[in-house]
Amino acid sequence: VDADVVIVGAGPVGLLLAAELRLAGVGTVVLEREAEPSPHPKALGLHARTVEQLAMRGLAEPFLAGGVRVPAWHFGFLERRLDLGRLDSPYPFLLAFPQHRTEALLAERALALGSTIRRGDPVTGLQQDGGEVRVRTGDGGTWTAGWVVGADGAGSTVRRAAGIGFPGTDADTYAYLGDARADRPPAPGFGVQNERGALIVAPLPGGLLRFTGYDPADQAPDRRELTLDGLREAVGRISGADFGVRDPAWLTRFGNATRVAEAYRRGRVLLAGDAAHMHFPAGGVGLNLGL
Ligand SMILES: Cc1cc2nc3c(=O)[nH]c(=O)nc-3n(C[C@H](O)[C@H](O)[C@H](O)COP(=O)(O)OP(=O)(O)OC[C@H]3O[C@@H](n4cnc5c(N)ncnc54)[C@H](O)[C@@H]3O)c2cc1C
Repeated sequence: VDADVVIVGAGPVGLLLAAELRLAGVGTVVLEREAEPSPHPKALGLHARTVEQLAMRGLAEPFLAGGVRVPAWHFGFLERRLDLGRLDSPYPFLLAFPQHRTEALLAERALALGSTIRRGDPVTGLQQDGGEVRVRTGDGGTWTAGWVVGADGAGSTVRRAAGIGFPGTDADTYAYLGDARADRPPAPGFGVQNERGALIVAPLPGGLLRFTGYDPADQAPDRRELTLDGLREAVGRISGADFGVRDPAWLTRFGNATRVAEAYRRGRVLLAGDAAHMHFPAGGVGLNLGL
């Protein structure tokens, strides 16, 4: 056996799990398809309960020091804000902290605790019998483990290889997202919802702003790309203001596909994070739930 537990996927969920297992003395190897960590911020918001859980492990400090505290946040893009200051928590806010930095901190933690992280080789399949699981990778390698955890995201290879279905609904609503600078930024916490659509503006560390929302004029399912001009046009039309949006760091669209695995465990194979459940990311649920 090469490892007590092989974790497939070095996203936030796989990395936190690797650290947690190491704390319990369990030998873990993380296998990650991509050679380099993703540069995209993706999930921005860490909610109070997530920060509390990081604090239980003595991990909250670098998150609190590097994040932006957002005292009120939207629910489902609706205009009215949830007042997070009323939460019974030492962290009564949403902490804006880009996902790639969360992943970097969790990777550092997993490595420091003795986990191995191997990047640049996708898992292609697995077989389980009796007391072990054999995991195959693209370069022809095989890893034998007592247990395997698929933390390999919504398109999970582990889930498919274990024969676990992922029933749910396809996306029929799409949101736009642009992380960019602005010459005339709106007031902190700005948001608007009207018959032209919805827009939320959130601060990112380093002076970038996240412009995200719903645009009824842009609901074609096959269009994945968003351009700077497209973002400017939507933001201007929905808000009625010109914020001088420029220098985008990331432009994307995402949908509301909603699925849950028909089982979280089959024999010695378990699923965690987006591999087990996925839904509309607006509002910050996926990463927080996974962690
Ligand atoms: C635009 C956008 C905004 C979002 N905003 C928020 C937010 O504000 N708050 C929030 O909570 N959530 C948000 N989410 C959701 C959040 O990003 C996900 O829920 C989160 O990344 C799930 O983490 P994970 O570790 O389960 O999976 P992932 O982050 O998807 O990581 C899976 C990893 O597995 C690797 N992998 C995949 N296949 C293989 C394979 N065959 N072999 C080896 N490795 C493999 C991938 O390369 C990846 O590194 C957002 C998502 C998007 C797209």
